[in-house]
Amino acid sequence: MRIILYGPPGSGKGTQGDLVLKKFGYPKISTGDLLRRAVQDKTALGLKADAAMRKGLLVSDTVVLELLKERISLPDCRTAYVLDGFPRNIKQARAIGHLEAGRPEVFIEIRVDEETLVGRLSARRICSKCGAIHNLATCERGRPEFCDICRGDLEQRPDDLPEVIKERFRVYNRETEKVREFYRSRNAYHAVDGRPPAMKVFETVSAIIERELAGSREARVTR
Ligand code: AMP
Repeated sequence: MRIILYGPPGSGKGTQGDLVLKKFGYPKISTGDLLRRAVQDKTALGLKADAAMRKGLLVSDTVVLELLKERISLPDCRTAYVLDGFPRNIKQARAIGHLEAGRPEVFIEIRVDEETLVGRLSARRICSKCGAIHNLATCERGRPEFCDICRGDLEQRPDDLPEVIKERFRVYNRETEKVREFYRSRNAYHAVDGRPPAMKVFETVSAIIERELAGSREARVTR
């Protein structure tokens, strides 16, 4: 099964993906993480992606697909995997559909209003050492300077700066309706309210996945 977590920047896709991994054991694949690693390692694909990422623009479909293809060919993706940040447009949605045509798909859109999202993103900090995500707004011990997991320095992602955030929303909104329609037409579309606390959102996400898993098991038995 391919579980697609879809939503605007800051909607909590990454957190929900981590919770799916914890409960179901399916790997979470974030194309943003794959790209950031490639940029950091200065690989050929990373060098191609760097400029677009800094401006909040989409990296070329070819570069992203190449990274993704490599990742989903690993053995841990055989049963199921979760996509976070992919597809970002209709071309990517079609491409992944063609690449693994027989795999059942569940598309979950996490919906949050833009005002809430800008607040979340401007307060987001990433540990430079272990990559853990922290939020200054919800941190219980005042403003942390270091990661409470590994003591690494906390940094703001260059694309979480206000002017870049605006561009990322513009890019997101441009393709959203077409992507929704694509998955609606395949009977794979689900929407979830992403405003409540993460664990509450996960109850709904988890129930959708369980229902779909039961459905695909049933389909296999009756085939
Ligand atoms: P994210 O971590 O998902 O917010 O992604 C950070 C940045 O990586 C985006 O603003 C894009 O520049 C790039 N990116 C991530 N996923 C994709 C994708 N599926 N297609 C194109 N660019 C992507």
